[in-house]
Amino acid sequence: IRVTFTPIHRRDLGVTGTIVVLHDVTEQEELELARREFVANVSHELRTPLTTIKSYLEALEDGALEEPALAHRFIGVTRSETERMIRLVTDLLHLSRLDSKQAILAKSWTSVGEMLDEVADRFSFQLQQRRIDIAIEVADEIGEVLLDRDKIDQVLDNLVSNAIKYTGDGGQITVSARLSDSETVEVAVKDNGIGIPKKDLDRIFERFYRVDKARSRNMGGTGLGLSIAREIIKAHGGAIVLESEYNHGTKVTFTLPYVREEETA
Ligand code: ADP
Repeated sequence: IRVTFTPIHRRDLGVTGTIVVLHDVTEQEELELARREFVANVSHELRTPLTTIKSYLEALEDGALEEPALAHRFIGVTRSETERMIRLVTDLLHLSRLDSKQAILAKSWTSVGEMLDEVADRFSFQLQQRRIDIAIEVADEIGEVLLDRDKIDQVLDNLVSNAIKYTGDGGQITVSARLSDSETVEVAVKDNGIGIPKKDLDRIFERFYRVDKARSRNMGGTGLGLSIAREIIKAHGGAIVLESEYNHGTKVTFTLPYVREEETA
């Protein structure tokens, strides 16, 4: 149910009452609302970098071009804003493929240990720069799991890059994998960073939801990383949850079905 309040104004008396309307929002309406909100968000997210690019180009045209140092900086800004738009559009394409179920999983047997070591390798430069330590802990018995390597890499990249983005210099990240029962592998990415306030936790997997929009933008975030991760894990038949304590750190855990080779033969 959606409730709207409309005050009744009278020129001579001011507010004399309120009209309260209770809307029975059906599932259909809710979907329509979500869709509209999504389109509005996408438009806004694309408009912001475009407006920035436009104003920097105008500044270049108005004379900044004659000052090489300034021109260099302005071109740098337009370039990074362009890169953000590319990231955003790429993320949107991924989401739309996942939504339309066009994303057929290309599963293969994958060593979980190797996969996690390689994620850490991909971020080694960034981790070093920020003096963030990363620990990989994989339970011996796991071995290989049947999964879509590209897509799970995308999930891991999103989670580890979030852990780095939202953790201070000198922080600690732990990526671990274990069997939570005989049929489920559990992979977790944990950091000791800024954490997420309790009030935001419920909405954190929503598209474009961010705790701090400015900070996310500065870090180059699109606000779509966690929603993409959730879609990919769902497509694998797993689940993803996030636990966080404000100012202490965050832990994102996802599960994947654990099937042994003989069961799929
Ligand atoms: P973004 O591109 O903004 O990082 P995500 O969908 O990946 O988008 O994450 C949504 C929001 O969740 C982020 O903007 C941030 O506020 C919060 N968040 C995600 N991961 C973490 C984390 N490890 N620590 C603190 N906050 C996080």
